[in-house]
Amino acid sequence: MGPYPAHYDFAFAILSAPDQPLAQTVARLTENGVRLTRRDIERLGGRVVEGGLPVRSQQTSSESDTEIDTAVALVAETRQQVDGFAQIMRTMQDETRGFGRDLAQSAAAITQLAELDEITRITSTMIARIRDSEVRLAEATTEADTLRAKLVDALDSARRDVLTGLPNRRAFEEAFAARDLDAGPYCLAVCDIDRFKHVNDVHGHGVGDRVLTAIGQAMAAECAPHLVVRHGGEEFAVLLSGLNLSEAADLLDSVRSVVAAKRFRNRDTDTSLGVVTFSAGITAIHLAETAETAFSRADRLLYTAKAAGRDRVCAG
Ligand code: GH3
Ligand code: MG
Ligand code: MG
Repeated sequence: MGPYPAHYDFAFAILSAPDQPLAQTVARLTENGVRLTRRDIERLGGRVVEGGLPVRSQQTSSESDTEIDTAVALVAETRQQVDGFAQIMRTMQDETRGFGRDLAQSAAAITQLAELDEITRITSTMIARIRDSEVRLAEATTEADTLRAKLVDALDSARRDVLTGLPNRRAFEEAFAARDLDAGPYCLAVCDIDRFKHVNDVHGHGVGDRVLTAIGQAMAAECAPHLVVRHGGEEFAVLLSGLNLSEAADLLDSVRSVVAAKRFRNRDTDTSLGVVTFSAGITAIHLAETAETAFSRADRLLYTAKAAGRDRVCAG
């Protein structure tokens, strides 16, 4: 089964309540390694999704496969180019090795007042070889520039979420680890779109994707220059620097009200999606703590914000 929310829901229902009839029926049906059929799953109240956009997981396995393929191709290309450079250098060495001898011949030709033609022949050969090497070097330099640009692209896309265009969790972890501890206090906010499942259920995943992107981009624009990443699913993390907790919470609350004031429309059906809000938990990052520790504190505050009615920021 693919990485779709419906499949996770079904798996969760089984794993979270192993004593319930559902889990027991599944255990019975899958005894001796028998796989559940689509009919089994549907009969048990589950839903099988085929095709479409896998959601919930930010990076699908095929996406990371593509990333690995790109990296492998780039490594192969780099290796080829290094080999190419080495070959060019060897050829240039070969071509210029005879220069001393050619110059000596040329000098001898001059002292012996030999034919001018002979001197011209020797120097023309030298000039032709130099030109040849220059052309090859220029080509190799252009190839190196192209490859360097591709490498920069690949490094960038490994840190960017494909759907929203925002930096991803990897970028967040790197930024967290690279915090400049002299740059003042840091805060971490974890934000989650409220009742987003409902948006998907009513309007479809395509519309859900567009709303997710619009909210992510609005958050990034409103929080700038602080770092906003899509941390996964419909969840964003914000790393704020140089603000104390109460300033950071105020900033986030103003972002929350900007998003809450937006009126989303389904442009395909021209119907209103109404208000879409997010909730957030925000905390000050302690000096020596790990990203996981700070994140789980902010996540607990997010949970408190959800429990208190959503569309709010809970600081602590
Ligand atoms: P809550 O207020 O408690 O956060 O409610 P919720 O419905 O947002 O939370 P829940 O965890 O039940 O559902 C999250 C939904 O977000 C379900 C999942 O399909 C959807 N989602 C996650 N990632 C994506 C995505 O990339 N695209 C779309 N369209 N939906 C996504
Ligand atoms: Mg949510
Ligand atoms: Mg969520």
